[in-house]
Amino acid sequence: MKKERKIGGHAIPQPLIDRLLRHITMTPSGCWEWNGQRDKHQYGLMAIRHNGKEKPNFVHRIAFSLFHEEWNGASSVLHHCDNPPCCNPLHLFAGNQQDNVDDMMSKGRHGYKSHPGEENGRATLTVEQVIAVKTLHSQGVKNIPIGEQLGIPRWKVAFITGGKTWRNVTSIKQGLAAVSQESRL
Ligand SMILES: [Zn+2]
Repeated sequence: MKKERKIGGHAIPQPLIDRLLRHITMTPSGCWEWNGQRDKHQYGLMAIRHNGKEKPNFVHRIAFSLFHEEWNGASSVLHHCDNPPCCNPLHLFAGNQQDNVDDMMSKGRHGYKSHPGEENGRATLTVEQVIAVKTLHSQGVKNIPIGEQLGIPRWKVAFITGGKTWRNVTSIKQGLAAVSQESRL
């Protein structure tokens, strides 16, 4: 018997896949960006009807659930691509918050970039960029001018300065140590 897929305890109707695919823009970097409603952190939101009531659900969680059988809804769904509106199932993985930090640290060490087009803001940040954000922030520079100066979208800057991402990178020394350690392997 096929396992029933659920979001937040609610079964997902099959037409949801069509609905999902109608409202995304596929970017050159491979991200599927949600065109519809987003929350303040740019995560896509989709209303799902349950018992006659519509409730907003995170699109990336819906996408993950639709395309990855093994997820039971218990853990977080995280982005490899560091792009909140993205719901490409291949860019998503299930994990906890520590996995999220580890994943971004490893991307920083590897200089992982999904696409060379840094200016579009979709590429994952390097450790050096994160350190630059933190350095400016510690000097009292606000998020918007930091973003403009470094060419990084405001929401990414806000995630870093607000401690939501890249918490493990606290100094230039630490960042460089991580990079050099990786290059020796
Ligand atoms: Zn993506």
